[in-house]
Amino acid sequence: MHKNHETENSLHELFGSNVFSDAVMKERLPKPTYNALKKTINEGLDLDPSVADVVAIAMMDWALEKGATHFTHWFQPMTGITAEKHDAFISPTAEGKALMEFSGKELIKGEPDASSFPSGGLRATFEARGYTAWDCTSPAFVKDGSLCIPTAFCSYTGEALDKKTPLLSSMEAISRQALRVLRLFGNTTANKVITTVGPEQEYFLIDKRMYDRRKDLIFTGRTLFGAKPPKGQELEDHYFGTLKERVSAFMKELDEELWRLGVAAKTKHNEVAPAQHELAPLFATANIATDHNQLTMELMKKIALRHGLVCLLHEKPFAGVNGSGKHVNWSMMTNDGQNLLEPGRTPHENAQFLVFLCAVIRGVDEYADLLRSTAATAGNDHRLGASEAPPAIISIFLGGQLTEILEQIATGCPACSSQGGVLKIGVTTLPDLPKDSTDRNRTSPLAFTGNKFEFRMVGSSASIAAAAFSLNAITAEILSQMADRLEKSTSFETDVQKILQEIARNHGRIIFNGNNYSDAWVAEAEKRGLPNIRSTVDAIPAIIAERNLLLFEKQGILSRHEMQSRYEINLENYIKTINIEALTMLDMAKRQILPAVIKFAALLADSINAVKKTGVNADTSAQEDLLKEISTVMASFKRHVSALEKIVRQAPSRNGNSYKQASFYRDEVLVEMGDLRKDGDKLETLVDEEFWPMPTYEDLLFNI
Ligand code: ADP
Ligand code: MG
Repeated sequence: MHKNHETENSLHELFGSNVFSDAVMKERLPKPTYNALKKTINEGLDLDPSVADVVAIAMMDWALEKGATHFTHWFQPMTGITAEKHDAFISPTAEGKALMEFSGKELIKGEPDASSFPSGGLRATFEARGYTAWDCTSPAFVKDGSLCIPTAFCSYTGEALDKKTPLLSSMEAISRQALRVLRLFGNTTANKVITTVGPEQEYFLIDKRMYDRRKDLIFTGRTLFGAKPPKGQELEDHYFGTLKERVSAFMKELDEELWRLGVAAKTKHNEVAPAQHELAPLFATANIATDHNQLTMELMKKIALRHGLVCLLHEKPFAGVNGSGKHVNWSMMTNDGQNLLEPGRTPHENAQFLVFLCAVIRGVDEYADLLRSTAATAGNDHRLGASEAPPAIISIFLGGQLTEILEQIATGCPACSSQGGVLKIGVTTLPDLPKDSTDRNRTSPLAFTGNKFEFRMVGSSASIAAAAFSLNAITAEILSQMADRLEKSTSFETDVQKILQEIARNHGRIIFNGNNYSDAWVAEAEKRGLPNIRSTVDAIPAIIAERNLLLFEKQGILSRHEMQSRYEINLENYIKTINIEALTMLDMAKRQILPAVIKFAALLADSINAVKKTGVNADTSAQEDLLKEISTVMASFKRHVSALEKIVRQAPSRNGNSYKQASFYRDEVLVEMGDLRKDGDKLETLVDEEFWPMPTYEDLLFNI
């Protein structure tokens, strides 16, 4: 008992120990300063500069006690990872001594040279300056001797160059619109609606020594060659299996470091694929969850190295084995703690629940292409629709009961009752919903899981920001349309019913509870008119589709100009990724695989000659057959090497039309890479394993 108590205490002390949390602020800030800061955090008001100075000093003192020597504005440029530039707190005095200094100005605003971050044409390189601005809604923390201050990042002219700015705006937008709807339902107490997010993170762990001998993993994060091992994931013996000691040591350290940073890492387990694992945190505000997910990915990589491991966050490190994604669990919550996607106990509560639920349903149906674009990367193309992770077609899993309720609302059959007679729909009464809808469907890209939506399309290496701010944007838009109508209504309940009925009738097509991996669903979705956007190149144009531009403009989240820049950046990323992959493949093919195969072929030839020389007239057909087969595949392999080289040379220039260029990479380069790989993998199965120049799938996946 005593022991338990102790660990509990130390865990208690550990959690958030490196975070300048609310508790720390309360303890260290003068009361008026604390109150002013809280007002800024909760209501988005501007912070008085004098208040900022006091906060800055308190933050620095706290950080120095934690061993920090530097501070950094920590931001999330369009690279998808985080960026930091460290400045020492030290400031020299005239007497040749040093003072520790940190001002409110330095806390609030930074001016990093931003010329090397992607801007998609938003910022001319001669205007290199960018601004970082303190986001006080995500707490500062100490990491590796630096006080990290979460910031938004924008251009000199104020355009967003990062993932946080639109996320914060989208949270304000959805809060505004959701509050309008809540007021109509008679809620007078809530003064903010927060979007909550809990991202489940999948990843692979492999041995560092193996990793070091794979150029493809080093340069591209995924294997570009690799024959299937005799055993894959078919036995499903890895899922939730016992953790290997090395993995478990890694996870323990990861948890502790995350806890120190206030990341509530909660669940960890082995995933379906060999060497694959998952970590899920407790949910937080969308903003903090996004920051925390970035920290999680960073720490996973760093801590893996301490254990002689490498963490692979790529969406598809191994062909033929499940890839990794992120399940972005998303909901809306009032500042007084009411989850708006939680079915209630009274008909009134349930009417409100159905309004919020239906807002999401309609939004997802109307903006499916936008949502799809948030999961579009070169890496994720190997996963979406490849009969494992969700398909590329957006649909919603609602579960039997809710679907039935919506169907009844659609047919306007209020007196109908379903199994057990739980269902009573009248004009003013809505059904009692069961608290727990446990039926789960793991194949759906967007599943309603009882009190939240789980968006399963996002890739494992991606920031969750775009998915979160797009869900926020579309929901805000539909809620605003509902509020426009209901605020004018003279018969609130009838009009709520009408709105729900319209949505159930017009958008029911987005609901699908069956197996999303089946071919039948692909055909069915087509009949329903749902878009099936198979590749990143097809998905990215949604970012600049007029409807989506209008949506973001109207909700004050991103301007046309900013969206255009994101479109360019995403296409550029795609092009660069495939280009690096192609060059890496060529390097491996020419300098590793071909030489190895030639050596083995020479050995076979020597063996044939040696046997013949003995004059015993022994049968050399085994060596001869093998030599012939290897030579044939090798010749084909070499032809594909030349073809790929040629195609890469032919790729249109960088400064042309990015869409055309990206299409070329998908239609020509990727296809040629596939052909080359086929021959390469065939060779791997023919050549003596001692000769094979790199660790195989067996070595990579079954070695820890
Ligand atoms: P699973 O989906 O694996 O069954 P859970 O349903 O318990 O697991 O939760 C998965 C994730 O969803 C966790 O990260 C959890 O914090 C998050 N989550 C739970 N409730 C909410 C909510 N209201 N809003 C956002 N995320 C949530
Ligand atoms: Mg889940």
